[in-house]
Amino acid sequence: MKITKIEAVYPTYKETLRTWRPNLWQIIIKLHTDKKEVFGYGTGGGGKSSIEIINGHLKEFLINKEINCISDITNMFDRLFFESIPYGRGGIALMALSALDLAIWDAYSKYKNTPIKNLLNDSNNHKKNIHTYATGNNVNQYYSLGLNNFKLSIKSDGNFDKEAKDLITLLDNIKKNYNVKKIMIDCYMSWNREYTKMMSDQLSDIGIEWFEDISTPDEMLVNESLLSELNGIKLAGGEHDFNYNSFKIMHQKNIYDIWQPDITWCGGISSILKIIQINKNKFNIILHRGGEPWGLPIIQSGIVNNMAELHNPKNKKLDLEQWENQSIEKIEDGMLTPKEYLGFGAYPKKGLFNE
Ligand SMILES: [Mg+2]
Repeated sequence: MKITKIEAVYPTYKETLRTWRPNLWQIIIKLHTDKKEVFGYGTGGGGKSSIEIINGHLKEFLINKEINCISDITNMFDRLFFESIPYGRGGIALMALSALDLAIWDAYSKYKNTPIKNLLNDSNNHKKNIHTYATGNNVNQYYSLGLNNFKLSIKSDGNFDKEAKDLITLLDNIKKNYNVKKIMIDCYMSWNREYTKMMSDQLSDIGIEWFEDISTPDEMLVNESLLSELNGIKLAGGEHDFNYNSFKIMHQKNIYDIWQPDITWCGGISSILKIIQINKNKFNIILHRGGEPWGLPIIQSGIVNNMAELHNPKNKKLDLEQWENQSIEKIEDGMLTPKEYLGFGAYPKKGLFNE
């Protein structure tokens, strides 16, 4: 497969994008190949800045390159990672790299007429049905879709005493009103270590599966492990760690029970493969936004945990604003059954590229 052309666009989103996202949200790549009908589509974070990195630099290493086996793709990741070192090693450089890596995997799967799950693992290990959890605070909506695992966004303003009481009331109400299996709490880097320990005491009876992103990635990596101090509640994190070497530190220091790399931010499938190697089956890997088309084939392949995050799902087709999502067969009783598809089974909506 020869890469002949790369187009990168930052679409105009109608949905409200909060905090850092408006100019820096997900871009879309269209990668052309020497087969007229085979295109690779990828996505990654970084918005307009990512587009600059791709058009202004990384693209030149891809045009006219031959990709004939998986190691050609992972070697390309290493090359792009190396070339972007002066401004990269994380952040938006890796977000841009993710979009390119995913577009190459998408194209290669279609070119070889082989699903990505088969490229990644023997079919005996594939998962037909995928466990799910919904992220967001609209539990009633998620419950109406048949979902039964929920992750709440609980950002602290620092008024810990009052917030602890409110949180316990909220959790009691959810447990009373819905038939819930698992509840998780995402703190968006707003809890400190003492408060986390105190909350693990108070919430140990309620049955919380994990606390996520209690503190900044750097605070977590440089401090000692908290894992044995939380009354059996697990710690999750890693969505803001884009350099696979951060996961080596996590491994050595037992920072999280659950690793949550984001495949569209940390460098694509090629980077996830490195993270899986680093993990050596020690910790769970539950992909951030794993129920989106770019995470699903990885989960289906069986090389990471069988659990797909559905970010604020609005319907059972898991519609995406900028994409035709053709990866979902059905969602029933919280289990997601994917369709058979090549690449990521996702196609940019008409009009995004000059067809
Ligand atoms: Mg999170």
